[in-house]
Amino acid sequence: MTPLIAGNWKMNGLRAESAERAQRVARAAAGVAAELWLCPPFTAIGAIEPVLRGTRVGLGAQDCHARGNGAHTGDISAPMLADAGCGAVILGHSERRAEHGETDAQVRAKTEAAMAAGLMPIVCVGESEAERLAGHAVHVVCGQVAASLPDGFSGVVAYEPIWAIGTGRTPTEADVAEMHAAVRAALRDRLGEAAGNAVRILYGGSVKPENARVLLRIPEVGGALVGGASLDPDSFLAIAEGASGK
Ligand code: PEP
Repeated sequence: MTPLIAGNWKMNGLRAESAERAQRVARAAAGVAAELWLCPPFTAIGAIEPVLRGTRVGLGAQDCHARGNGAHTGDISAPMLADAGCGAVILGHSERRAEHGETDAQVRAKTEAAMAAGLMPIVCVGESEAERLAGHAVHVVCGQVAASLPDGFSGVVAYEPIWAIGTGRTPTEADVAEMHAAVRAALRDRLGEAAGNAVRILYGGSVKPENARVLLRIPEVGGALVGGASLDPDSFLAIAEGASGK
């Protein structure tokens, strides 16, 4: 499977700087073997869409509502994202689970909505530091996989240990390998053998050019969800080049 590298810009970037950043990625993307996606804030989608149109870089968003339309002030629906030119959406990121109280059931409903709108969902799961220290990481993450994915899921799952996000800390290679193998097994249980094997499992959490090659070579790591380092096109592209040897 081609590795997938997605940049999660979070709540960063005004329109002009976002377009310029996207342009730098798009210009270099032709020489990169990985599949690339950029997920800017909603307000920059309109500025970036013409920049990425016709390039090898996909455009994604960072959330969507579970309903297609209606009285949901401040929310954006999956059909709206598709209409704006998006092809993917990050769902259930730990920052949304923590700051907006998103539950597995809500993530599942949003994922269904994204699929119905033709978007590729990138569903995030991950344990807290307390859960890892208590020895519950695999149980927690596999529970999130089972509860956050709808029947017939097709898309991407991102394993992001919460304690590794934005901290500069990463799990050991053995811990990443153990978790990705467990997530693969949970996907097969949830979706069946063929569909479970078809899902790419990304690693996310302090991925940088310096550690990307090692992380991306671990079995069952099908790419990376990159936060902070994706704001610098050179770093993002260096990470993508690290994936190219897979
Ligand atoms: C993220 O928030 O999805 C993420 C992986 O962030 P960072 O790379 O900054 O740890």
